[in-house]
Amino acid sequence: MDDEYCFTMSSLSRRLDAAWHQAVIKNQIINEFEAAWADPSGSWAKGDRIAYGVKYIEEQFVYYARNLSQSVDIKGATAQKYVHSSSTQTKYLCRLNSYRALRPGAIKRSQQHQTDIPADASRCRFYCQDRTHPLSLLRRSPLLSVPLKHYIWNAYYNVAPLETTGHFLWIPTQRSDAAQNDAARGGIKPENNTLPHRPQQLTPAIVEDAVQLFSQLSGQLSSQLFGQLSTSVLSFNALQAGASVNHIHFQSIYSHQPLPIAIARTTEYNGYQLSANYPAQSAIFSPTQPLDTLLLYIEKLQKAYIPFNLAMLSEKIFVTARTKNNISLPNFSGEGYATLEICGAILVTDRAAFEAVTAALVERALHETTLPARKIIDALCYGEQR
Ligand SMILES: [Zn+2]
Repeated sequence: MDDEYCFTMSSLSRRLDAAWHQAVIKNQIINEFEAAWADPSGSWAKGDRIAYGVKYIEEQFVYYARNLSQSVDIKGATAQKYVHSSSTQTKYLCRLNSYRALRPGAIKRSQQHQTDIPADASRCRFYCQDRTHPLSLLRRSPLLSVPLKHYIWNAYYNVAPLETTGHFLWIPTQRSDAAQNDAARGGIKPENNTLPHRPQQLTPAIVEDAVQLFSQLSGQLSSQLFGQLSTSVLSFNALQAGASVNHIHFQSIYSHQPLPIAIARTTEYNGYQLSANYPAQSAIFSPTQPLDTLLLYIEKLQKAYIPFNLAMLSEKIFVTARTKNNISLPNFSGEGYATLEICGAILVTDRAAFEAVTAALVERALHETTLPARKIIDALCYGEQR
């Protein structure tokens, strides 16, 4: 890591970065699981034991995968390219990461509804009540615990990291007021003894905390340097909009380049700021303004059962409503569209799909998987801003 990059990180990001590096060096970002399906190229059979994650090799963080059942390393492919749309003047980032196909729960999604994920704690895929499960969050030491206004938030590593430099799950745990009471009584309980199961739905307290977390990850919002300090993307995928676990969680990665959604022009409509000339039209909110309008917008979407993606990046909060079907188009099989795709960073897991991606396909996919913010405002919010 060079000094300049280090210098531009906020103190929370620096602590998180250091914790990630330590965990990789100690081989903690490697997980073992059973392959749910056979690899078409023969690298693994259904049921094989696979170890997968990030390792520190020759002074670099690299993806690592090994078929333990067959005692062979799995050589995955990574690559990236930009595809440029002349009609919207947008340059989409397209990344190939075949290691992601190995992740637990990876399935070949077809062009249809994402299936419902049960809300009950006993079937939670973070195994928040079952320490005996190998992938239980209770067995992962949090990289950091961050006390925010309403909850103490734990950062965990993602078992299938999108970036070798860090991919984090942010999970609200104990309530901050309860922790203060514990402290007053003489001691705070170890945070990973308690992991209350809450569904993947936003409440005003969770959103308020997430905005505070984003500002801490990004540096001081009031600072003139904020734009330069903003290296983190904090995101939330609602159910039916890319979430694969029905337990409240945000994710963050470092963004090494500005994402297309944040560069697109904006326009104003009925008091809302919307993206313009971008195929996924989002409502855009400011983390430095009162959150009432954002909270109301989210509440309306949730009450109407409209799935959505929320992304905090580049000093802004983007909320993008989704259609319930077309979660992935045929050319992007294997990965549904989640927040990063909506932001214009497309991830594919196989080489043929990577070669086939064009700007026209990306824009068609963004069109078909999103509902324009203008329609949402007309249907749900019009009149309430005045
Ligand atoms: Zn849970």
